[in-house]
Amino acid sequence: MTEPTITPLQPMPDDWQRALAVVAHPDDLEYGCSAAIAAWTGAGREIAYVLATRGEAGIDTLEPARCGPLREREQRASAAVVGVSVVEFLDHEDGVIEYGTALRRDIAAAVRRHRPELVITLNHRDTWGGVAWNTPDHVAVGRATLDAAADAGNRWIFPDLAEQGLEPWNGVRWVAVAGSSTPTHAVDATAGLERAVRSLLEHRTYIEALTDEDPETYVRGFLTRHAEATGERFGGRPAVAFKLFSR
Ligand SMILES: [Zn+2]
Repeated sequence: MTEPTITPLQPMPDDWQRALAVVAHPDDLEYGCSAAIAAWTGAGREIAYVLATRGEAGIDTLEPARCGPLREREQRASAAVVGVSVVEFLDHEDGVIEYGTALRRDIAAAVRRHRPELVITLNHRDTWGGVAWNTPDHVAVGRATLDAAADAGNRWIFPDLAEQGLEPWNGVRWVAVAGSSTPTHAVDATAGLERAVRSLLEHRTYIEALTDEDPETYVRGFLTRHAEATGERFGGRPAVAFKLFSR
């Protein structure tokens, strides 16, 4: 028997200036890749966040009308910690986001507004690998983001966007999917890990509802374990992995 081969992850491209991260819920980026975001903004890059929902259905003990505004505040604070000041919400309904042209259109409009070279999203596959089932919101938003990166460049798809002054943007060069079970690329997380911990900790209401563990112990443990496991395929440095789709 031979040992299974561990394929090294390639370094993420770094010849870009603007990125747009599009995910379903508050905390998706903080669990998924904010150490990379912190490292990038720390190096002078501009990143904006677009969230399909306010995560209003995410806490069992809080009704959506109270939960949505609270999670929006936590998300804005959490983004600020990693150097992101632009956070937009598309107001789709948490838990029942529908994949389709309405979602693609909203994301294509965001891509045209922000004109990113790199688009970031979260795992759009059925599972996280193995038998850990993904949520329908992540699947819908991830797929629609991959699609909308192209829609944004086509004048004849969603022509009303151009009529509103959102000219086509065909400059997306890559879509990077965080949380993929088959990643191809990675970013050194060393410079961003501490801010990533503080960023995820801003989702305090959500985390306190999720675990009885001390929030900081839980968050630091979770993010460090993932970064170190990814680092085994990235020269031993703590890292954040992405599956990179080129355009
Ligand atoms: Zn989520």
